[in-house]
Amino acid sequence: MSISFEVSTDKTFEKFDPKSSNVIATYKDYSPEEVFQIVANAKTASRAWKNLGFKGRKKVLTNWAKYLTQNVEELAKLLAQETGKPLSDAMLEVSLAISHLTWANKHAPEILSAQRRAPGLLMFNMKSYVQREPFGCIGVIGPWNYPVFTPMGSIVYALAAGNTVVFKPSEFTPGCGKWLADSFAKISPFEFIFTTVTGKPQTGIALTQSSVDKISFTGSTRTAKKVAAACAEKMIPVILECGGKDPVLVAEDADLKLAAEYTLWSAMANAGQSCIGAERVYVVNKVADKFIATISEMAKQLKVGEQYGPATMPSQLNVISEHINDAANKGAKFAVGGKDSVKAPFVEPVIMLDVPENSSAMTEETFGPTLAINRVENIAQAIELSNSGKYGLAAAVFSKRNGEKIAAQLICGMVSVNSVFSFAAIASVPFGGVKDSGSGRIHGPEGLLEFTFARTIVKTKFQIPLKFTTFKRTKFSDNFLIKLIKSARGRSLG
Ligand code: NAD
Repeated sequence: MSISFEVSTDKTFEKFDPKSSNVIATYKDYSPEEVFQIVANAKTASRAWKNLGFKGRKKVLTNWAKYLTQNVEELAKLLAQETGKPLSDAMLEVSLAISHLTWANKHAPEILSAQRRAPGLLMFNMKSYVQREPFGCIGVIGPWNYPVFTPMGSIVYALAAGNTVVFKPSEFTPGCGKWLADSFAKISPFEFIFTTVTGKPQTGIALTQSSVDKISFTGSTRTAKKVAAACAEKMIPVILECGGKDPVLVAEDADLKLAAEYTLWSAMANAGQSCIGAERVYVVNKVADKFIATISEMAKQLKVGEQYGPATMPSQLNVISEHINDAANKGAKFAVGGKDSVKAPFVEPVIMLDVPENSSAMTEETFGPTLAINRVENIAQAIELSNSGKYGLAAAVFSKRNGEKIAAQLICGMVSVNSVFSFAAIASVPFGGVKDSGSGRIHGPEGLLEFTFARTIVKTKFQIPLKFTTFKRTKFSDNFLIKLIKSARGRSLG
């Protein structure tokens, strides 16, 4: 199958190395017209991709998984270069993305096959079932902090569900986005199943103005609002995966060493640039001194530039400085680091104590290797403070006996008990947030369902004298219906 498309402009933009600020590559800056054309081509291609069926798509996606596995080092190197993160972190990221691909590929038929539904007593002569239909072409807009793992959480689920995908990667990580589409092209049976359009925000805006059938956006809450508004204009359904201000709750019965070790990694790994990273800790008074001493000691041992890299997006350094300064000005104390910890392009670990709840370090996403630790009277207060912010992405709870009980009271999309980040590595569970952290889910069965719409089909198996949806409805039918409803006395007839 061939679809005509010609690149009409040769505008480019530069990608800088976050460590040295040198230009490392130049990428095409796709114009709105080009985006519209590619989406149109991807929509056409979506029919053939859908018609391949689960079996046909499975073959293609298995070949892609094999290719990615064989070339994991190449992609990880590019990822490490573009973001500045350590190579081992990049390897982990690519590996997890592959595990999501294989899971979505394996489970799509079972989760998306048609389901029979009971017609109920009233419609007993009907056969009813629900089909899941791919939307057509999905637009995926991605961030730079996990430029492979994060967008792949949408891309692979959308593809496995039978959609084609047009992907706009972050302008800070265009190479990873291009690499992914180029790798797919090597195993693709025809064009425009998965295409990447590199560019600045304008390219993302164009995607929201195109004829795309659904958008899966991952990025900041600020941009999510713009994307949602643009999509609303065109009635484009949208998944929003946004930022967070994730809390860690440390109970009296927590394994404090484990809690300190995991919390520190969650807060500082990837230079703190994780949407699900720990940003604030509520630790119960009784164990607070010990927890603070343990985590502070561990933080002081961190090797900046080796165990985590620079800020990938230079402008984030201003936000990190502002949050540290605001906390300091409002009376926070510093157990590790302080106002001079931001040493562009790196940020040394910062641990703040007794941080006023109204400071930006407690209310806004910092996205740096900083952690605010506040003492609480009891776990009920920790839960209340955790739930009081505007975000609701993820949380971690450390408690030997009550972890799940505490987790069940948190208003957020994901909770790890006695660990951190673990849900992101389990492909069978959904990923996403509530409140300002977004809506909709990627990963797991919910992630597959997001990229399909439900089509209900009800077929008459045999005709009966009782007819309700015709002008020839009889008095007998009316009486029968009333008697049936009354006899059920509020119970379901289904
Ligand atoms: P961002 O909002 O600045 O940009 C995200 C993407 O949107 C980029 O590709 C950008 O070019 C594009 N864009 C910008 N303006 C646009 C517009 N008006 N219309 C359409 N597209 C537009 O976010 P970022 O700085 O790249 O990423 C960091 C943010 O992402 C953080 O807030 C982080 O918490 C969040 N994040 C969330 C998750 C999650 O799953 N919830 C995962 C990773 C990152």
